[in-house]
Amino acid sequence: MLGLKIKTAKNKSSYAVTIAKDFSAFTDKILPFISGEKVAVITDSVVNEIYPDVFSDCLKNKIVCKYVVSSGEESKNTDTFAALLNKLAEDGFTREDTIITFGGGVVGDLGGFVAATYMRGVNLISVPTTLLSMADSSVGGKTAININKGKNLCGAFYPPKAVYINVGFLKTLPHTEMLNGYGEMLKYTFLSDFDFDGETVDESAIYECLKIKAAIVAKDEREKGIRKLLNLGHTVGHAIEKLSGFKLPHGICVAKGIDYALKISEKYFGYGDGRRKEYEKKAEKLCIDCDCGYSAESLFETIVSDKKRFGSGIDVILINTNGKAEIVRMKLDLLREYL
Ligand code: ADP
Ligand code: ZN
Repeated sequence: MLGLKIKTAKNKSSYAVTIAKDFSAFTDKILPFISGEKVAVITDSVVNEIYPDVFSDCLKNKIVCKYVVSSGEESKNTDTFAALLNKLAEDGFTREDTIITFGGGVVGDLGGFVAATYMRGVNLISVPTTLLSMADSSVGGKTAININKGKNLCGAFYPPKAVYINVGFLKTLPHTEMLNGYGEMLKYTFLSDFDFDGETVDESAIYECLKIKAAIVAKDEREKGIRKLLNLGHTVGHAIEKLSGFKLPHGICVAKGIDYALKISEKYFGYGDGRRKEYEKKAEKLCIDCDCGYSAESLFETIVSDKKRFGSGIDVILINTNGKAEIVRMKLDLLREYL
């Protein structure tokens, strides 16, 4: 079993992440952080079907209400969000009670935002069940829902009180969802000396990713500066995701986006293409094809219509000559040329 401490809000507080093989340490590690008499477990239909009562033993002294949303990104909408708030109120949840999000990134984002907003914020515990959410999104305090104008445009920074990662939940995760997680994990290989080959997805691989993320988030929780490094692969990745009509999974788009970041880096810093080739080989070993099939022009158009635009320049995360990730403010014309 591994553990991590995540510092939040200018290091004023922190929360613990437990990374375990199974669920047996949940009571020990998490129960102390569950306040109130009532616990709301927010989960999705697929996770609920596979794991209908993982909490029944450990929460037997609490009143547990379960809220099941449909599995999939569509659940991150304003209607589902409002319905959850109304149900919590109908069921008499108070500010002292606790919400547990049990599922992947969708449940984490949606349930986390419910926790951030219900009665101006209630206790949140995160129990991620996908590789992507274990290795990345369950830590860092970002919560969000989608609105008509775009994904994640409504949300809050709202860190949980504790996170419990049971790697055992991955046994039932479909292969495509594993690949989705690999994409985001590849990002971390450029942010420290962590290496990843996909052969061993165990507690320590997840620990390594979260350790890097924790170090970055502790310095910049609100993404004003170095947290932007975590967006490596995301500028082009988001464009690919959008162009695919959100059919391509986020992590896969990030993996392809990293390939573009390397392509742009080579041109910007003027080094050879060895690093990119090596990356493509690694991705291929993980069954991730870096080709995206979209033209440079359509990628560019999609990027500039996105939210992180700054006048005539855009912040992109590149890999410098020393192999380190770096935030570069790039003129849009140059980005168009390098894509
Ligand atoms: P992500 O974590 O990638 O953001 P989702 O929350 O949409 O994505 O989860 C991806 C899919 O995997 C969903 O259909 C979800 O119901 C399903 N899922 C989540 N966890 C598990 C699990 N441990 N076993 C099987 N399926 C799971
Ligand atoms: Zn991401």
